[in-house]
Amino acid sequence: MHLPQAASGPMDTLAPLRDFVTATTHIVGQAGQNEAQCVAAVREQLARLIAHDGWLPDFATLPHPEHYQQYLLHCDPLERFSVVSFVWGPGQRTPIHDHCVWGLVGMLRGAETGQAFECQAAGPMRAKGPAVRLSPGDIELVSPHTGDIHQVANALADQSSISIHVYGGNIGAVARHVYDPATSVAKPFVSGYSSAQVPNLWDRSHSVRARLAGSRP
Ligand code: FE
Repeated sequence: MHLPQAASGPMDTLAPLRDFVTATTHIVGQAGQNEAQCVAAVREQLARLIAHDGWLPDFATLPHPEHYQQYLLHCDPLERFSVVSFVWGPGQRTPIHDHCVWGLVGMLRGAETGQAFECQAAGPMRAKGPAVRLSPGDIELVSPHTGDIHQVANALADQSSISIHVYGGNIGAVARHVYDPATSVAKPFVSGYSSAQVPNLWDRSHSVRARLAGSRP
């Protein structure tokens, strides 16, 4: 069968993200409450998504001079998962925080470091294991079942870094916590998102028009 060029051409740069969203919607529906099954399958899809750059819309690549940005790329209508572009300016970092849902962090551009922490009954947060450095293509898991308190930082002092995160909920609206490193005291935290805009994944008109044009006698 003849496939017109436009179906996979520059007019459909969002196709990799749309394919990821479609696949992940199937996965969360089939996995139900089985987190291990869900995370393993989503991880495969995320690896595919971040294996190639070039699909992330420009607005979701912009750093802020003072703090990291979190751009929502898609939220499942049933809030079973969300996809977020995290953009780190040089030297920027999160507070120590948790997620209260599973999360997969996939590195797209640049590099970041993640350090896991655990609380002490009284006293400072304690680092749990060594810091992990992520390079493009690397994926890290956080889960409330295995410990999901961490701090993430741009590993690069002179350029922005971008990672694509997938969470098992509408992460910007999840009631979670930030932690005081000196006392291990948790404070309520709802992150929100950095933009009211989301990519339009669903304008597939270019490929449909091209297919119609290709089928004309
Ligand atoms: Fe995190």
